[in-house]
Amino acid sequence: MYDRFKRRINYLRVSVTDRCNLRCVYCMPECGVDLMSHKDILSFEEIVEVIRFGTENGITKVRLTGGEPLVRKGIVDLVKMIAKIPGIEDLSMTTNGALLDQFAQPLANAGLKRVNISLDTVEEKTYKKITRVGDLSNVLKGIKAAQSAGLEPIKINCVIKKSPIEQDAQEVAEFCDMNDLQVRFIKEMDLETGYFDRVIGGDGGHCATCNRLRLTADGKLKPCLFDDLEFNVRELGIGTAYSKAIGLKPKAGSENTVNKFSNIGG
Ligand code: SAM
Repeated sequence: MYDRFKRRINYLRVSVTDRCNLRCVYCMPECGVDLMSHKDILSFEEIVEVIRFGTENGITKVRLTGGEPLVRKGIVDLVKMIAKIPGIEDLSMTTNGALLDQFAQPLANAGLKRVNISLDTVEEKTYKKITRVGDLSNVLKGIKAAQSAGLEPIKINCVIKKSPIEQDAQEVAEFCDMNDLQVRFIKEMDLETGYFDRVIGGDGGHCATCNRLRLTADGKLKPCLFDDLEFNVRELGIGTAYSKAIGLKPKAGSENTVNKFSNIGG
C-alpha cells in the first residue's frame, strides 16, 4: 500500500488496551485517565481481522502496544492468534517490562519475535518518581527474562527531557552497553501542541519516510500520531477505514487533540 506521497505503508501499531499498570509523569495523570468502556474495546477476533486485512494488503510489521499490552487479559492467546496470520515478517511489542518476567517465555512460545522496553533511568528512586508506582527491579528481571526467551534484539526506549547527555540517559546508555541492549532516546513530546522530534537511534518521527498506521484499542485507524484523523473500523468497515487512513495520511504531523500517549501507544 502506498499513500499519496509515495510512502509505502507496511507497519501497523496496535494498541490492545488503554489500561496501564504505571503512571509515568509525562504520559498519564496520577489518577489515571478516563478509560474506554469495555464494549468499545476491540475483541481479539476483531483485532485479528483488522491485522489480516492489513497483511493481505502489504502490512508486514506489527507491533503491539497500549496502555500496557501485558495487562490485557489473554495477551498470550492474542499473540498466538496474530502470529498465525500469513504475511507478518516482524511481530513485536512495546512494554514497560514490569510483567515481562512472567510473560517473556510464554510470549516467545506464542510467536512474539522481539520487544522494546521502556526505561528512562536505572536509578531506583528516580524510576519510582517517574513511574509513580513502578519498581525498577521488576523491569530489570523482565529484561533478563526477555533475553533468556530470545525476544531479541531488545530495544530500550528512554524518554529524555532535552538531550541524551542528561545523567539518567547516560546511565541508561551505559547499562545498555553492558547488557547487549540497543538504546533509543525519545524526546518528551506533547501531542496537543504538536511538539515532536525524531527518535535518536531509531526511525520514528521522520515524516518523509513514515510507513505506519495505528489502531487504537477502540478500533480507530489513525494515519499519524500527530493528527486528529481517525477512522473507525466498526462504523466504516475495515476496508474503508484502511483506504481513508492511507488516502488521507498527512504529509507531516501537526498536532493531536483527540488522543493521549496513554491510549495511542507512543
Ligand atoms: N506501556 C508501554 C510502554 O511503557 O512501553 C507501551 C505504551 S507507551 C505509551 C509507549 C512509549 O511511549 C513508551 O516508550 C513511552 O515512554 C512513550 N511515551 C509516552 N509518553 C510520551 C511522551 N510524552 N513523549 C515521548 N514518549 C512518550
